[in-house]
Formats: sequence, structure tokens, C-alpha cells
Amino acid sequence: MPPLGPTPVRSQRFRALGVRQVDAIAARFPLTGEQVATVRLISQVLPFRVNEYTLSELIDWDRVPDDPMFRMVFPQRGMLSPGDERLLTAATGTGDRQAVAAAVKEIRGRLNPHPSGQQELNVPRIGGSPAPGLQHKYRETVLYFPSQGQSCHSYCTYCFRWAQFVGDADLRFAAPGPEVLVRYLGEHPEVHDVLVTGGDPMIMGTDRLVDHLEPLLGVESVRTIRIGTKSLAYWPQRFVTDQDADDVLRFFERVTAGGRTLAVMAHFTHPRELGTELVARALSRIRATGAVVYCQAPLIGRINDSAATWSALWRAELAAGAVPYYMFVERDTGPYDYFKVPLAKAAEVFASAYRTLPGLARTVRGPVMSATPGKVVVDGVEESAGGRFFQLRMLQARDPALVGRPFRACYSPTAAWLDELEPAGDTPHDIAAAVWGGAPGTA
Ligand code: SF4
Repeated sequence: MPPLGPTPVRSQRFRALGVRQVDAIAARFPLTGEQVATVRLISQVLPFRVNEYTLSELIDWDRVPDDPMFRMVFPQRGMLSPGDERLLTAATGTGDRQAVAAAVKEIRGRLNPHPSGQQELNVPRIGGSPAPGLQHKYRETVLYFPSQGQSCHSYCTYCFRWAQFVGDADLRFAAPGPEVLVRYLGEHPEVHDVLVTGGDPMIMGTDRLVDHLEPLLGVESVRTIRIGTKSLAYWPQRFVTDQDADDVLRFFERVTAGGRTLAVMAHFTHPRELGTELVARALSRIRATGAVVYCQAPLIGRINDSAATWSALWRAELAAGAVPYYMFVERDTGPYDYFKVPLAKAAEVFASAYRTLPGLARTVRGPVMSATPGKVVVDGVEESAGGRFFQLRMLQARDPALVGRPFRACYSPTAAWLDELEPAGDTPHDIAAAVWGGAPGTA
């Protein structure tokens, strides 16, 4: 095994900062009274969390409020609809906690907390009952949500998993331990890949993480363990200076030495997240364990919606020895209306950035919608005698027979999600049924 390399001397303990600390944050950083009030208001509905690293190393305070890192973690006016913002402001103004709780519940219910049929279609059953903290959408992959991993080092304003963090048990996926997962995997040898996700599993201490993952090493059919994490962006100390940083890397080594693939699915939204010395150290230490780092992020309006940003992001990932993997389309949940990017623009941003890349970075795919029937990529826009169309393809599908199949939808300059598209007349019937619930023209 390669040595882990020296750690820097200065270490910093992780501490989450939320709405209770917003005055203390405003005392140290140039937040206006209006911005503090916005944090207080919006964070009643959507989660807010930052930490010392995101505040000091990622945000460029000279560029606030337009700074993309600021917009990535600080709630903004406009994230709720004008009607919902009025409702919340009025309820807050009464000072009546029950009225506020009722308004918050009503607003959250309108924000589509579990998009893409996650609760109805993805939860597998074991012994006749729903398996807590598991999702099984694609034949070979199971998603595992360890209960202690259901928070993150900071929260993204655009988070598509916001429902995991708002303290409502009905909205949450969480497995107390790995027993049900291991039993389920024993009954489903077709599953080769477990994606551990959250929240962020790397928020757990190493002992806890190992308790959840070690039993997977005894399941012969599991060949790949993926860990979905934004800790490299929000708290790279997790792999460098945290007290148990070396222990987690030793565990990664154990997984790879046993012949398993360990894939760290890193969420990087903006090239600035790859610009610190700590993240470079963290990436190099992870890679030294034999783990592979794949990078993915959504395309978010007001934060990273330009080709230049994505080109710089993918180049920085490649330079750090990581693999550019997915550009996602923002999902239809939470403050989606505020951050969404039309598919036509998304396809243009992707194509323009892709053209600038060296061949080795052209591993990236996108823009991809992780939708109810599967992952649908927008390959481009086609002009033909019959009109203008989006060229689409099923990258992944609930029904394996659909994987890899191209199809078309009528062009729309404003559509930002699959359900806003109309199928082209030549859409194959099985794809039309999976995507639109019927034959072309019946959607
Ligand atoms: S890292 Fe992922 S789960 Fe955590 S807040 Fe951001 S989008 Fe949500």
C-alpha cells in the first residue's frame, strides 16, 4: 500500500453553523441586515448550514451577493414563490409558532419533497415490508441511506435532497444499520453496486462509517461501493486533518485491497471548490488508497450556468486525477423554479464546454435528467424538415431493455424537465410508455 503522506500540522475541528449562529457570522463577515433576515426567513422551510471552511475559503466576500459560492450556501429571496414568501412572512409576523409550523408544512408540501417517484417506486420490500433507508431503481445498483449520514458539512441552497434535513420523519430515508441491506443483497445477487448516499456519508465518524460498510465486504456479489459525498468541496479536512482522517483512508485501502472498486462520487459544483491546497491534498490521499474519484454536479442557474465555468471545472478535476462524470439537470424539487436552467440552454452550455476539453476529460456525460423512468441525456438539438427536436437517450432505465435507446422530443426553448416535453411522432411505443405514460400524441 502506498503511504498516506504527511498531514499538515494545523488541524481544525468541524463545527456546523446554522441559523442560530447567523448573527455571529454577520459579525465576522460582511452580511447585510437584509441578508440576515433572508437567512432567518427562508431557513424555516429549507435547510441552512455553513462552516468555517465554506465561509473563509470558498466564498469571495468582495463579490457578495453575486458570488457563486455565496449563492450556493446562503438562502436568497426568490427561492420561494412570491405567494409562499408572503404566506411565510405573514405567519412569522404573528409570532404564533403553530401558525408558522402550519405555513412551513404547507409550503414544503408544494415543493415536491420526493421527486421522480422515489417513495412510491424506488423503495424495495423485504419480508413484505418496505426496507427502511434503501432505494432500488436500477437492476444492478442499490442506494443506501445510513441514518447517521443524513446531513452535510454545509447545505446547498439548490439541494434536491432537502427533505432529508428538515426534521420531518415522513420525508426522510434512513437505515439505522446495515442488517436489512445485507439481507436484501443476499436475496438480490443481481445487485453488484451499492451507492452509499445521504446527505453525506462522510459526515459520519470513521467508526460509524465502517460499522455501516464493513458488512458489505462479506457480500460476494457486491463488487463496487460508491460513496456519494460533497465533503471534498465543503470539508476536505475529512481526509487530511480530521482526527480520524487516516483511519478512513486505511478503510478505503482495505476495500480496494480486497478486490472491490471503491468509487468516491465527488460533488463539485464550481471550479473554486478545487482551488484550495486542502482539497488537492485530500484528493491525492484518497487516490493513494486505490479509490477512484468520479465527479458530478447539477447545472444551476445563477451559480454555474456558463460554459466557461464547466470547462474550468472539468479541467480542474482532470488535473487533480479525478474523472469528470455527470452534468445533471437540476431536479424538480425544492427551489427548482429559482435555480432551473432550460434544457435548450443546458445542452448549449454542455456542448460549448465539452468542445474545449482535452480527450481525457471527455468522459463527462450530460446534461442528464435523473427522472422517473431513468437517466435521460439531452444529446443535442436537431433541425429537420419535420421541425426542431431534442435528441434524447436513455442512459439508464428501470427497464433494462430501454438502456442506450435514442428518442426525440419536440423542441421547447423553456422546458426544463422531461415532463414539460412532448414526444416526437416517431417515439418508440415502449419509450413513450415509460417516459410519457402512453403512445406519442397521448401524453
Ligand atoms: S451535498 Fe448534496 S445532499 Fe448535501 S446539501 Fe448539497 S445537494 Fe444536498
